[in-house]
Amino acid sequence: MKQATAIFGGTFDPVHYGHLRAAAEVSEKLDVTDFRLLPAGQPPHRDHTGAEAYHRLAMLELALAPYPDLTVDEREVRRKGPSYMVETLASIRREVGEVPIILCLGQDAANKLEGWHRWRELFDLAHLVVMKRPRSRPRYPEAVAEELRFRRVRSTSVLMNEPAGRVRNLDVTQLAISSTDIRNQLAAGRDPRFLLPATVLAYIRKHGLYGAI
Ligand code: ATP
Repeated sequence: MKQATAIFGGTFDPVHYGHLRAAAEVSEKLDVTDFRLLPAGQPPHRDHTGAEAYHRLAMLELALAPYPDLTVDEREVRRKGPSYMVETLASIRREVGEVPIILCLGQDAANKLEGWHRWRELFDLAHLVVMKRPRSRPRYPEAVAEELRFRRVRSTSVLMNEPAGRVRNLDVTQLAISSTDIRNQLAAGRDPRFLLPATVLAYIRKHGLYGAI
């Protein structure tokens, strides 16, 4: 195992098997000592979330309860106001010191990188791992494409030699599951079972989230 911190950020509204399987596979491939899923507090890129942050956090904790190697980082949820990834990574950097930090993103999220607050600074703080996602092809605006070009590496071990600044693409099993689809199914009175853990679905129904009955 390599001494490094991997961060899988997301809204997790709600968490589903697309997230969980991708996290499991990336964690296996990176083989790092510290793998965290980090729910966004108040996502700056979305107008609203379906569920309050404390519900999203509770669902993530339920999903990961049987898997102590995958932990939840609560810092964005605990913070007031909008959370920017660059600030979140800076705060993690202060804690972990000079070990590699690896930010894991799906291709759809990576395509939107240019809209992130102080996005170029992300590379001073962390490596980027971009996971393939069904229905999302790489589509980078020129400024981002240029930045990624000279940072790209083809092996995971290179990431472990430096604290930040490289980009690696990783394949994961393609599961065309999305939180939007799950929320829509629930709002329409349908049953999204087997797309997400049963414990999470039971929580959604118990709290009447996303219009579920
Ligand atoms: P929404 O439908 O609400 O946009 P989502 O399903 O895309 O939600 P997010 O919480 O926004 O879920 O995703 C968090 C991270 O996980 C993002 O980097 C996203 O690209 C990645 N991700 C989400 N679903 C999958 C999937 N099925 N396969 C691989 N990566 C995924």
